[in-house]
Amino acid sequence: MMATIFKHQVLPELPESQNLLQSVVTFDAGTIIFEEYEEGDQAYLIQKGYVEISRYVDNQKKVIALLGPGEIFGEIALLDGKPRTATAKAIHESTVIPISRQRFFDALSSEAPITQLLVQSVVRRLRGMHAEQLVEEEEGLDEFVNKDIVYLETQKRAVEHVQTLHNLSRAVEQQKFQLHFQPIINIGNGALNGYEVLVRGPADMPDLFSPLSFIPMAEESGLIVPLGEWILKYGLRAFQLLQSEAQRRSLSKAMFISINVSPRQLDEEKNVERLVDIISRSHVPPKYIKLEITESMLLSNPQAALAALNRLRSTGLSISIDDFGTGYSSLNYLNRFPLKTLKIDRSFISNLFKDNNGRRIVEAIISLAHKLEMDIVAEGVETRQDHEWLLENGCEYGQGYLYSKPMSLQDSLKMLNKKFV
Ligand code: C2E
Ligand code: CA
Ligand code: CA
Repeated sequence: MMATIFKHQVLPELPESQNLLQSVVTFDAGTIIFEEYEEGDQAYLIQKGYVEISRYVDNQKKVIALLGPGEIFGEIALLDGKPRTATAKAIHESTVIPISRQRFFDALSSEAPITQLLVQSVVRRLRGMHAEQLVEEEEGLDEFVNKDIVYLETQKRAVEHVQTLHNLSRAVEQQKFQLHFQPIINIGNGALNGYEVLVRGPADMPDLFSPLSFIPMAEESGLIVPLGEWILKYGLRAFQLLQSEAQRRSLSKAMFISINVSPRQLDEEKNVERLVDIISRSHVPPKYIKLEITESMLLSNPQAALAALNRLRSTGLSISIDDFGTGYSSLNYLNRFPLKTLKIDRSFISNLFKDNNGRRIVEAIISLAHKLEMDIVAEGVETRQDHEWLLENGCEYGQGYLYSKPMSLQDSLKMLNKKFV
């Protein structure tokens, strides 16, 4: 009785592994793994054994390859989702690892469009060479080429991407970026406490205006290294102007300038040294400088990050953790890294009054930061209500549209005597 129950019991499904590769399958000698013209979209990596690949040409079986360990077969159907172009048969007992089409494309979709285009265009060539029936019928091939919408879309995206990358690299070379400055306010007394530097693309390149559009591309391509150096240099120069103008007009001076730094800027020692060099040539006392880094940077290569941050801190500047709560939020790193300021991500502030949990979470973040002796900047403060709540709950600093949007240097100079709250 018990046995039958167990036999019919549905086992819970195993969670799908995030891996491209799935668990191994073994085929006995002589087993057909798949046949020409059959539907199927997995490729296989041979771990052990041998697999024969054959095709029918003029009703005659023609062996086209004998593959062994480390080799892949079935990749064409995986790539184009069309019927198999050949038959695969295990010659010896063979162990293979299936690679699913879905997982492959999930992995590919995070690659640059040009990589996607290259893969797809190689597939098309291969398919053209393999599928005699298409090559023979010129029309068939044309139809195949023209109707392949996915391919055309990839092509369009790749061309745009390359064009934008080209524009971006020209803009970096010609230093055509602009810097905007967003005030950071002391919530306790409403005074200006500092500015965050936010980069903007060249005025004549609308597709590159928002940093959200070009920073990821600059990071991928490495252009963020020269761009980031330019931002640091001109950000510090602008800060000096703001300071001396405030002094001239006997206004309260901003206490610090906060500059975003991408992981790529810190992953090589020589790049870190160049940042140190820019800072020391700027004549801005490093105690006025904050660098904003994100959680993901600390987690991807903790050792290199720690070395880079310690080197930067040795000049006297301080480090803020940006967008806190949006990354992996491994609380471990808060203790291990020399962080002075925690910036609570905008999403938490915009949820403050959506439900009770919104406030509880921010309360918890504030208390955590204070226990670790960090000060806090709330990002995205948009309403008076947010401001009052943050004041009551001991959050030191705020940044957001309630106080001011990011402004050009000229506007920032004009607004030096503005009351922010
Ligand atoms: P971030 O560092 O989190 O910068 C804050 C973003 O929030 C800015 O967008 C700012 O304009 C926006 N913001 C400020 N207050 C409010 C508010 O009250 N409501 C709303 N809805 N938004 C607000 P921006 O300037 O478009 O920058 C976007 C992101 O681009 C930045 O996010 C940062 O990740 C990146 N970025 C900007 N400038 C630089 C830079 O110089 N270097 C690097 N590496 N990244 C940068
Ligand atoms: Ca930031
Ligand atoms: Ca942020």
